[in-house]
Amino acid sequence: MSDLVGKLSLEQKVRLLTGEDFWSLYAEPAIGLRKIVVSDGPAGVRGNNWDERDRSANIPSPTALGASWDRELVLRLGRLLAAEARRKNVDVLLAPTVNLHRSPLGGRHFEAYSEDPLLSAELGAAYVRGVQAGGVGATVKHFVANDSETDRMSVDVTVDDRALREVYLAPFERIVAEGVWAVMAAYNAVAGFTMTESPLLRSVLQEEWGFDGVVMSDWFATRSTAAAANAALDLAMPGPDSPWGAALVAAVRAGEVSEALIDDKVERLLLLASRVGALDGVAPAVPVVDPAPEAEIAALSREAAARGMVLVSNNGVLPLGPLRTLAVLGPNALNARTMGGGSASVSPTYTVTPLAGLSSALGDSVEIVSAEGCFPSEKLDPVPLEQIADPVDGTPGLRVRFLSATGAVLAEEHRESGRLTYLGSFAGADASQVTSIELVARFTAPVAGEHLLGAAGVGPFRLTVDGHDVLDQVIDPPGPDLVEAMMNPGQAVSTVRLAAGQTAEITLTHLLPPGNTFPAAMLRLVCAAPRRSEADEIAHAVSLAASADAVVVAVGTNEEVESEGYDRASLGLPGRQDELVRRVLAANPRTVVVVNSGAPVVLPWASSAPAILLTWFPGMEAGHALADVLLGTAEPGGRLPTTWPAAEADVPVFSTQPVAGGLTYAESIHVGHRGWLRSGAEPAWWFGHGLGYTTWEYVSIAAADGSVDVTVRNTGERPGREVVQVYASRGESAVDRPARWLVGFAVVAGQPGETVTTRVALPARAFEHWTAGGWTREPGEFTLHAGRSVTDTPLTATI
Ligand code: BGC
Repeated sequence: MSDLVGKLSLEQKVRLLTGEDFWSLYAEPAIGLRKIVVSDGPAGVRGNNWDERDRSANIPSPTALGASWDRELVLRLGRLLAAEARRKNVDVLLAPTVNLHRSPLGGRHFEAYSEDPLLSAELGAAYVRGVQAGGVGATVKHFVANDSETDRMSVDVTVDDRALREVYLAPFERIVAEGVWAVMAAYNAVAGFTMTESPLLRSVLQEEWGFDGVVMSDWFATRSTAAAANAALDLAMPGPDSPWGAALVAAVRAGEVSEALIDDKVERLLLLASRVGALDGVAPAVPVVDPAPEAEIAALSREAAARGMVLVSNNGVLPLGPLRTLAVLGPNALNARTMGGGSASVSPTYTVTPLAGLSSALGDSVEIVSAEGCFPSEKLDPVPLEQIADPVDGTPGLRVRFLSATGAVLAEEHRESGRLTYLGSFAGADASQVTSIELVARFTAPVAGEHLLGAAGVGPFRLTVDGHDVLDQVIDPPGPDLVEAMMNPGQAVSTVRLAAGQTAEITLTHLLPPGNTFPAAMLRLVCAAPRRSEADEIAHAVSLAASADAVVVAVGTNEEVESEGYDRASLGLPGRQDELVRRVLAANPRTVVVVNSGAPVVLPWASSAPAILLTWFPGMEAGHALADVLLGTAEPGGRLPTTWPAAEADVPVFSTQPVAGGLTYAESIHVGHRGWLRSGAEPAWWFGHGLGYTTWEYVSIAAADGSVDVTVRNTGERPGREVVQVYASRGESAVDRPARWLVGFAVVAGQPGETVTTRVALPARAFEHWTAGGWTREPGEFTLHAGRSVTDTPLTATI
């Protein structure tokens, strides 16, 4: 690459080191470099737009993949995402996220695999292998210690060296060894250095681990010119404005940054370009994959969702036997909550709700009744597409106009969603001329009564209905983080009385801040039809439950509760969902509770539920996969990738609130189940726990050098799968250690009566600890424990 770099002037080189826009890098025709496009993220490839017209396959979120414990499955999903990336002309995927579940309150908990470094490392590595096997670069993020969202832009994390190495850096180290092509430096600071200026970038990532790829900043995380450049950041994102550009050219000329360092960054960028096939005359690292057929995407998404579902308790009610009537209840039964919020969100190609999935699986032979049961969200939903028409052409949707100060229409477009996010383009209008955005729609009332109509977003909004002003209000931002404002904006609402079938002309006007030059806006047209009171809704659901043969009640969170940009305030289910579940359980003993959340929620009624199935955020095939598992067509394949607390007070690391700008990881290496084991508190369910539809006996164990053979037997009546987990412990030790820690795992499958032996690889690193002198293995014996969760390990051996 150095010959190519030699052809460029300093200005040309530096230009390559900041994005051209939000999602792409500059081309350089002088050396045959085309534009490289990057895109989020872990659960689907969003592409260049945040737009319902540019839809994406939405695979299960990382906690669901973590729960699969299945490297081969995750690898296949990585390949699928590579094919999706290619379909959208994306070269580099901004995933995987391998920060850890340090506290269950973490807003991006759903976006990371596990509380355990080894499980995160192994699944992250499989994901990267899959993505890059398709010729698309993966970007492991967010380097490092970005494990919660509160004050993420500024928080300074204090973490001791052992915890940093053994826990938080461990997944990155494994994934760099796997050959990842890019790393994203996080927003936060560690040990006083913001991560885009951190010495860890050079000393650990480049020098110790030999990383040869590109370090890019998280979006707007580059805060300096020379310091970031000297610290081994290669690419400041997004662009075109950044602290680099002309300032970096000047810093080189002033001798603050060496030109050799700039050359190194450009070489890294060109290596990435050559790997993804963006450099003329250089063959891509691997042949580029074709987009995947829709049926294949659907089948794999469905299989993956079922593999991640964790059956934490079951008195035998599952799989559901023959039925005549089924009540499908709960807010998450009628709404598909397939993903969490923030940059990881996409516009799914489609979504299958639990109700739709069960209806299609059961067909006409079973009578299904359904109800939301309660209304946990205080926010109104975007207006449904079937209730709005674009007044210009009469098709479903609405018209968006970008207006100048004189009211001239600078650009306009038809949209098919009441939820609009603009980031980087106002449909081609010159952003500096746009002073307001207008949404116009012909709204049809589905029923008679008082409808709520309004806006969600940040800033001034005016709503008119049939020419009458009904709302004129400034909505404040919900918090300091831009992503929070995008995902969980405040709303302003007005009441409008309409007859059933009546249409009304609606205009929502959003004024932009004066002097705005960057095209960014987020606005929603929201509404709610008249509905029963919540008390009546709960009573209605309970009466449906009482008269059905069986009940599936689905509760949980959604992408507003769990999102990038902010942490959760509590682990409770929002609204009156606990009350709904309690009353449904009392009304019908054949009730299955489905919990649809990306992270743990406390379930105070758990001991009285016949069965509880955790689905995480299962992706667009949610309802089909759920039906497969509930009806027994598929096994609930998941095992907990994170300890599930019974009560907030028991959680060993709970608060994510910085103190005086800092967050101290005082628990050191005792994160997740290690912390639970040390505290002695009993969670609802331990790390690794999960039931299938068959049973397994742990027969024997034989340890060798670097691996252990574990033999298990399917003692039940159905074929099944088991996640064989191997933990280590240490009797006498000169160092502080967890009571036990995960050292290996493997997924096995077997027919009834079948005995299966699996070889579980034990990485050397899992038995080493970090000292001032580097990695070391304490001499003496370790005990291995093989079993089905961290506390249920029937087999032991020593090595
Ligand atoms: C997130 C990153 C993401 C980037 C681009 C940031 O806010 O932290 O994970 O890749 O935005 O969307």
